[in-house]
Amino acid sequence: MSILAEEGFLPGYATSREGVVASAERAYSRGWDKFEFDLNRSNSIAIHEHVPGNRIYANGGKYQVSYYKFPASDEVKNPREWAVNPDRFAVKNKLEAEAGYNNPQAIDVPSLPLVDSQLRFISHVEELENTRFRMPSVTAGVLRKRHDGGHRYEFSDQIVDHRESQFVTILNFGPEQPERDHPLGYPICVVCGGVRSPYESEDRLEDFIEYHEERCGEEPQYFALHVHSDVDGLLFTELESQGDAVSLGESLTLVGSHLFDMERDDLRWLPIPSDEGEMWQLFLYDPMPGGSGLLEQFIDEWEEVHTAAQDLLGSCPSACSTSCYDCLRTYYNQFYHDELNRHQALGLIQGMGREPTIANPIEPINEIEEEGDEDTNLWEKRLEDIVCKEWGYSGFEPQGKVDLPSISAYTLPDLFHENAEIAIYLDGPIHTEKEQKKKDKYLRNALKAEGWTVIEIHIEDFENDPMMNVYRTQIGNEIGGH
Ligand SMILES: [Zn+2]
Ligand SMILES: [Zn+2]
Repeated sequence: MSILAEEGFLPGYATSREGVVASAERAYSRGWDKFEFDLNRSNSIAIHEHVPGNRIYANGGKYQVSYYKFPASDEVKNPREWAVNPDRFAVKNKLEAEAGYNNPQAIDVPSLPLVDSQLRFISHVEELENTRFRMPSVTAGVLRKRHDGGHRYEFSDQIVDHRESQFVTILNFGPEQPERDHPLGYPICVVCGGVRSPYESEDRLEDFIEYHEERCGEEPQYFALHVHSDVDGLLFTELESQGDAVSLGESLTLVGSHLFDMERDDLRWLPIPSDEGEMWQLFLYDPMPGGSGLLEQFIDEWEEVHTAAQDLLGSCPSACSTSCYDCLRTYYNQFYHDELNRHQALGLIQGMGREPTIANPIEPINEIEEEGDEDTNLWEKRLEDIVCKEWGYSGFEPQGKVDLPSISAYTLPDLFHENAEIAIYLDGPIHTEKEQKKKDKYLRNALKAEGWTVIEIHIEDFENDPMMNVYRTQIGNEIGGH
């Protein structure tokens, strides 16, 4: 398959529900022969990896996100606002926060959906290079009222829900840098998608902001990033403090990495305040699409977990009083170092007993209000409504594949009419990147050469009635001629 065919395969507007793609257009390996590649990641993995400043290791090279390909969606036009407790990173959706949960210390942080990105080559990976830099970042999550059911296990003094496909919103706030005077999040220009690492020097960050303010007409802001994902997980519900949740989460991944065939990264965890804000929950989840089977092992082999916890947490080579780098602490959990306590975690695990006393099935639930913000294809939907409902043209289908045999590629119009050979493309403000324009033009010209009528509508045209009338007439003439 040609490279162009691969590019044609990428939808112009990324959705944030299934997975994201990071593309490197100028990649190098074994010297300086240029090639290209794409990395596909599930949302729940990408939220830790595809973030500004993080190093991505692939095909012998090190890469960094240089810009996001934001779609013209409502989630981007109206970023979500979160009320974040800066001490504990407990988050609440601002709308919900205003309805009752009022924390006077909470700070407002806007977030953007994590979408497809472009990678920039940094350097080759040296042959003897063992340490891989991964940027530590603070994550938080909100469990939504939707999952596919599962099982509830009652232990001595703990209730653990094994939930399948729990719908969760995961947020990444970037590194906590208390010594620096930054808002939480990543510096991002929403106009062109350009990003900077929050670790850059003050001068470089100022240059970035000035440059985009001048070039793009809007001052870049600090944003958290978020994804929506369906993941399998274990929810520990009876925890008294965030310290409990954090210590238990880190301890279970430590024990699992000794007992099972897993790395400490294979399972992720989120401390989650309960609705009332007094109790805490721990959500230990499997970011692998389809699940890796590790969660089942924790339940089925709980007795081994219980025993191994005694060995791994009961003593530490450095005999630390709470936690240290020889037991629970790592570079990546640095935001929680003060709260990590191996004795506390061991107490919780031992308190659960050697096996669950009762196991009951849990029914699936789905109470997700269909919010507009989950519909990243708002504009495409509006286009479809106008063409098919308002104008009454039938025979159009939303985003589908049209083959371009002459160049061994294909293209994905936002709306197309197969019989009348009409392809309608919706262009958002983000699609103004030069390279993207060139690619679009190439594919669309190839489609015209196949005899198709190509109509390109800019989202701003929606507000321009005379312009819309021109498109309407054009479509009418094409359909009439068939
Ligand atoms: Zn910009
Ligand atoms: Zn220790």
